[in-house]
Amino acid sequence: DDVLLRATDVTKHYTLRPDGFARHRRVLRAVDGVSLEVRAGETLGVVGESGCGKSTLGRCLVRLTELTGGRVEFDGRDISTLSARRLRPVRPGMQLVFQDPHASLNPRRRAGEIVAEPLLIHRYGNAAAVRRRVAELFDVVGLAAAHLDRYPHEFSGGQRQRIGIARALATAPKLIVADEPVSALDVSIQAQVLNLFADLQDEFALTYVFIAHDLGVVRHVSDRIAVMYLGEIVELAETEALYGAPSHPYTQALLSAVPDLDDGSAPTPARERVVLTGEVPSPADKPTGCPFRTRCPYARERCALERPPLTETAPGRWTACHYPLAAEPLSVLGTPPPA
Ligand code: SF4
Ligand code: MG
Repeated sequence: DDVLLRATDVTKHYTLRPDGFARHRRVLRAVDGVSLEVRAGETLGVVGESGCGKSTLGRCLVRLTELTGGRVEFDGRDISTLSARRLRPVRPGMQLVFQDPHASLNPRRRAGEIVAEPLLIHRYGNAAAVRRRVAELFDVVGLAAAHLDRYPHEFSGGQRQRIGIARALATAPKLIVADEPVSALDVSIQAQVLNLFADLQDEFALTYVFIAHDLGVVRHVSDRIAVMYLGEIVELAETEALYGAPSHPYTQALLSAVPDLDDGSAPTPARERVVLTGEVPSPADKPTGCPFRTRCPYARERCALERPPLTETAPGRWTACHYPLAAEPLSVLGTPPPA
């Protein structure tokens, strides 16, 4: 099949040390049973508020952290239990681009050295070959090869993220997990970097998992979108289907919070304001039943008793809700027909 990455029931739990208040060890459920597939060549957006576990999930997917449970298959191979040594030859195929290029680039190393690092780790070739490859990567991401010997602080924020992207591309990966790669950038620069991601995907047949904290940025880059809440995927659908008629109440609320899509698209029921009340519960203290029930405007008794499984509610659309919103736009909010 054309699935490049498959996650099955992935969990990442942290055990918190007992304190004076809690006599029992508490478990923080950062990622709590996530299953998804990423198809070769697609971009899967992963969206959720901060603390929902999306960054941790991203690190699980490329095995930068150990899983507590579940399985990750990359390119047909189970990588979830590989030792560091056996993981080594797999690493070049999957790379992570970090949110903050300022924090993720070593300030004492020259840009060329930073990009060369993965090449040296994976024994790309001799010094001349590495230097040629680095110059090529600079060109690919739109940086001047004349700036190879500059330090990160001598570049703008957008250029620094280009260095981070060049480093991720160095080993010719198939998969790139990008963790909020434009969140730290000025709005005016964001579109340029997003366009670069799109161009690189075409040029190198890349597959992306694109993590973001709101639905504004990912719409234009994602083929499908997974919405996360408290460590779980609550909805997964084709991008336009999701924006057109969200099926999970949380997606509806997130969409209504996108201030202005400003792209000429027709208004959808999601544009009605749905204001969520209450705080996101702690992932160390998840509600019983549906994790969203403490903030859901549609919660009923059953929601406290049974955890809704992620279920295919329409072709290609997966929803974890006992009472998914209808796909018929007008019925979503019960708008009465004109008399
Ligand atoms: Fe709301 Fe219940 Fe659906 Fe959860 S299962 S999202 S509480 S309606
Ligand atoms: Mg994060």
